[in-house]
Amino acid sequence: MINFLNLQAINAQYQDELKSACAKVIDSGWYVMGQELESFEDEFSKYCRVKNAIGVANGLDALILVLRAWKELGKLKDGDEVIVPANTYIASILAITENNLIPVFVEPDTKSFNLCPINVRKAITEKTKVILPVHLYGLISPMVELMSIAKEFDLLVLEDCAQAHGASIDGKKAGSWGDAAGFSFYPGKNLGALGDAGAVTTNDDELAKTVKALRNYGSHKKYENLYQGINSRLDEIQAAMLRVKLKYLDKETERRKFIAKKYCTQINNSLIQLPIWDEDEQHVFHLFVIQTSKRDDFQEYLNLNGIQTVIHYPIPPHKQKAYSHFNLLSLPLTEEIHQRVLSLPIDPTMSIESVNQIIKVVNEFE
Ligand SMILES: *Cc1c(COP(=O)(O)O)cnc(C)c1O
Repeated sequence: MINFLNLQAINAQYQDELKSACAKVIDSGWYVMGQELESFEDEFSKYCRVKNAIGVANGLDALILVLRAWKELGKLKDGDEVIVPANTYIASILAITENNLIPVFVEPDTKSFNLCPINVRKAITEKTKVILPVHLYGLISPMVELMSIAKEFDLLVLEDCAQAHGASIDGKKAGSWGDAAGFSFYPGKNLGALGDAGAVTTNDDELAKTVKALRNYGSHKKYENLYQGINSRLDEIQAAMLRVKLKYLDKETERRKFIAKKYCTQINNSLIQLPIWDEDEQHVFHLFVIQTSKRDDFQEYLNLNGIQTVIHYPIPPHKQKAYSHFNLLSLPLTEEIHQRVLSLPIDPTMSIESVNQIIKVVNEFE
């Protein structure tokens, strides 16, 4: 079986460094809010070329805490609208509703799977306060166009970068375009911890200060609480693991891109629609997502031929039971995408033989 993603093999590449970094934390006797976190925040902010990075417990909290901070700073209030791609992962929507804000589901561009500036414009109302672009599957959203719409209508921009560490447009990285961004370091993400972790990035110092307080009970200063915050800290062991893995992120991304290009040049089957992107720097291939009208048959065929695949995602957020009040919304493009997509393995540790085998099997599907 060719696995979809082999986390054990990914982390085994760095096991000596990971184990010694872990041992260093154990021996230090300091486990939460220490030197490893500070160093990781510094290194990750430099990587994203942004002024501030704030470590938090996971990617969902990163998004929740930015919106919450904007509320505390008086920039948002209950009932304000957030424009978001309808085909995103549920976490982008949970961050909005958790803050008593209203998600406005916008149909994506069916080629890029990302927010389409024309549809964003159409969705703007008096109540719109935020655009939340999701750089889905690793492809950065059209940020030049989206930032210009945000400027024109005085909207805040929160990037969901959970799948797009290191993607860029003209050298400007995901996480440095909007007013703020949320990253996830869930183990399966391109930069993955060995447990849950996340970060907020922003060039806005006031926002950074507020998120720092909110992640730590709402406290800027020990035993003084300005806000009713939460506990969403990134612990020292995970920060230490991430410092090791950040050093190899670009190398792993190159490997993902190499596999993606091989798929794109060698898969040749009229039933399979391959991903499309403009510039090399824009896509970091968290996922390699193809589309086909015979999706379920194709997945079963690959499985019978020893290739594990995953559907990202089978049910769109507005059709989930958790959001029953949105179930009647009609978003035909989004619903069609969920019927057609399938993710092929794009594990950076995959052997070239496995990649060739996948290409051969895909080409023989009929
Ligand atoms: C993974 C993911 C999140 C949430 O990150 P967690 O660390 O799992 O909480 C948010 N948005 C998108 C698009 C994701 O893929």
